[in-house]
Amino acid sequence: MSNMIKVATPSVGEEEIQAVAEVLRSGRYVQGPKVKEFEEKFASYIGTKHAIATNSGTSALHISLAAAGIGPGDEVIVPPLTFFATIEAVLHQNAIPIFADIDHEIFNLDPIDVARHITNRTKAVIPVHLYGHPAEMDPLMDLAQDHNLTVIEDAAQAHGAEYKGKKVGGIGHAGCWSFYATKNMTAIEGGMITTNDDKIAETARIIRNHGMTSYDDHVILGYNYRMNEISAAIGIIQLSKLESLNADRAKVSLYLIEHLKDIDWLIAPIIRPYVKHAFFWVPFKVNEEKLGMNTLQLTRLLKEKGVEVRHRYQEPLYKQQVLINRKIYPHNCPLSCPHYSNHIDYSKVHLPNVEKVAGKIIGLPNHPNLTKKELDIVLSVIKSIK
Ligand SMILES: *Cc1c(COP(=O)(O)O)cnc(C)c1O
Repeated sequence: MSNMIKVATPSVGEEEIQAVAEVLRSGRYVQGPKVKEFEEKFASYIGTKHAIATNSGTSALHISLAAAGIGPGDEVIVPPLTFFATIEAVLHQNAIPIFADIDHEIFNLDPIDVARHITNRTKAVIPVHLYGHPAEMDPLMDLAQDHNLTVIEDAAQAHGAEYKGKKVGGIGHAGCWSFYATKNMTAIEGGMITTNDDKIAETARIIRNHGMTSYDDHVILGYNYRMNEISAAIGIIQLSKLESLNADRAKVSLYLIEHLKDIDWLIAPIIRPYVKHAFFWVPFKVNEEKLGMNTLQLTRLLKEKGVEVRHRYQEPLYKQQVLINRKIYPHNCPLSCPHYSNHIDYSKVHLPNVEKVAGKIIGLPNHPNLTKKELDIVLSVIKSIK
């Protein structure tokens, strides 16, 4: 349908096009001056000592875990409601994702349940600031301190979000960012690690570039996870627009929340008073009983009526086939490696809060380019359901 109201559209203009052309004319394409400038500006925006650019959010997570020394058999506590990339990085380090339940109001890791899952093998926690609402960082950092854990924030959905006055991504030992096309800001593809830890920063820079310290010296196992200059040039401009893009997202999202608060089958997101929400999504919970249909049927109906919505993540990650069928590495590593004497069976994992909400969250259109007219169509379509 041509007049479909889209859930996300890119906010890229002439400035970005110009910057790309400049890079192409410069002849310097990979990890050059634009990447350096993007890193410096991003570090200064988040308020960390270092920022290390990468080619994706997934590689940022992978590098951070490797740089923090997380490896075979180490347990890493993760939320079950997030994009799969969060745990992909853990598995690629041959470490074991251990799922803890979520806080049913903000859909992020519940620190109390995290504490229940800490063992003497636990080495790290990855709080995800899901949909742009910060995770409860204070109790998580307290737990980390008590148990000597590394905290790696997955901030891929939370550019500009704040927790108690502090920018997320600068609270844990490392913060990981994605600049994929649909995120709050984009570099088309790209990622970043923010950290105040000199050791993590130095190691991350080496891992990102084939483990090289100079042209012929490979000192640790690395990857090609570098960012290119075109992405960095776009990222620099997007960063300069981020506050204004986010302000528009917030305005649109709060308008929807305000005008849909009387719909009995739609539960507005809870926003804790001490956070600044980045509104990657404006996530509403569907009360399927009151609505009289399931969420999948609802999303189809909305689409028929010209409103595209997001509907993820439909199942807790521990129900993904790759985990249930143990298709990680040949020989079942790392889930039952010699390095890991516990036998992990994800089919036995059952976390009540996440199972109550998974599949029942929708993201209404809330991108910065929505017009008032489009917003009012969204409202009237929602009100016409049921
Ligand atoms: C997008 C995203 C990632 C992965 O980022 P890519 O740049 O796509 O690799 C990781 N975690 C979360 C929560 C994300 O939303």
